[in-house]
Amino acid sequence: QGYCSPSGPIEATNCAYETIEGLNSELFPAVHDLVSHPFFKYYKVDLYRECPFWKDDSGMCMNRACAVQEADDSEIPDKWRAGALSKVHLPDAEEAEGMAGCYFRNDDFCATDDDASPGGQYVDLTLNPERYTGYAGGSAHDIWKAIYQENCFGLSEASIADAKAGRGRSVAPPSFGMGAMGDDMQRAGLAPAETCEEKKLYYRVISGLHASIATSICANWLDRETGTWVPNLDCFIWRLAKFPERLGNVYFNAVLLLRAVARAAPYFHAYDIAITPPSLRSEEGTPRGAVDYDTRASFDKVLALAERADISSSFEERAFFTDPDAPIVMEQFKNHFRNVSRIMDCVGCDKCRMWGKLQVSGFGTALKILFALDEKDLNPEANPDLLRRTEVVALFNTLHRVAETLHSVAGFRDMWAERIAAD
Ligand code: FAD
Repeated sequence: QGYCSPSGPIEATNCAYETIEGLNSELFPAVHDLVSHPFFKYYKVDLYRECPFWKDDSGMCMNRACAVQEADDSEIPDKWRAGALSKVHLPDAEEAEGMAGCYFRNDDFCATDDDASPGGQYVDLTLNPERYTGYAGGSAHDIWKAIYQENCFGLSEASIADAKAGRGRSVAPPSFGMGAMGDDMQRAGLAPAETCEEKKLYYRVISGLHASIATSICANWLDRETGTWVPNLDCFIWRLAKFPERLGNVYFNAVLLLRAVARAAPYFHAYDIAITPPSLRSEEGTPRGAVDYDTRASFDKVLALAERADISSSFEERAFFTDPDAPIVMEQFKNHFRNVSRIMDCVGCDKCRMWGKLQVSGFGTALKILFALDEKDLNPEANPDLLRRTEVVALFNTLHRVAETLHSVAGFRDMWAERIAAD
């Protein structure tokens, strides 16, 4: 299309493996602790939205492992409900038509549900780990294919009109197979050499997410004989180790999320993560050992690690959306990303859908921080409500998913070395 350069800052990420792995030995335990705190572990999500694109009940996963355990209502801090009630805004018919299963504001790449949305359930994420569920086959393949096909940017008249009207465009019908085509990018409709930066960005985020989910599946595989969850090295070899590009995209996502967290760190340092209502807080502040104090300390630790991370050479956000057509490409990018969250409503396994929605929202929040907000927006005093709790929870749980994946990759490497030594 001639509006993006074919090579650029994304490739440099390959040099960042060691930096990221070194950082992850501290990051993973820190963010693992963070997401166990009440502010970060309760997430509201609507799992009963209809798939807006096609009807297919055949792909519904009925395994127990696909089910989501909801949180006990009494555990949800009143503060969120009270705050949410005052903010409830039910879309009118015209607004709702454009939303179809996904609520978002203008600068959102996609926000799904939040404390204020009328439907949805609270889940305790720690009770619903991402792992092997048995959801597979045609339905799962169709979803991935549809998501990769959203990577379709261009400056045709129709797509410009769509971008201006805030509409997404292509959603594939679920009638295709994932055949034995060549490499991942070609299969996803991308020719690497002629691909613009924004397309590559989209592709790498999705492929990295796909690879991270696959790693969680292989690291937490159900051993049917013992009924326990164990790492499955062969699963990892066949799905990931044979495709270094896929793992590279997980590292890329780690860098992207860390850049976003570091950029918004001053905002997050001031973000109100207290769950105690103001009337019950002491004047001296929260005492050490109290929930809010511990959460704050844990949050500050993760923020400090992201701020310290030496990854500036691996990802340069200013290299994207710079051409004269950037506003149109940006709108297209947002619309496609919003479509991905809608496609998630078609995933036939509740637990997969929940983690899928959360992570798309987490990446959407990171992209918004990097590309849609400026320093003025991110000023915590001027704009304390810029990011909603749902976005903050999604962002840091997505960072946790990626950090855990990198941790599992290190474990698989050790298992491989042991296997080689034993042969
Ligand atoms: P799939 O993973 O379905 O991949 C389909 C095709 O895409 C592959 O054949 C390959 O050509 C290509 N491909 C694969 N990986 C990549 C990559 N990283 N980059 C580019 N191309 C790639 N299952 C669970 O057990 N637990 C879960 O929590 C879970 N969550 C899911 C969430 C979502 C949103 C979706 C759509 C599916 C989820 N699944 C989950 C199913 C899981 O992702 C796989 O679809 C399933 O395990 C079947 O895997 P597969 O090896 O057949 O290929």
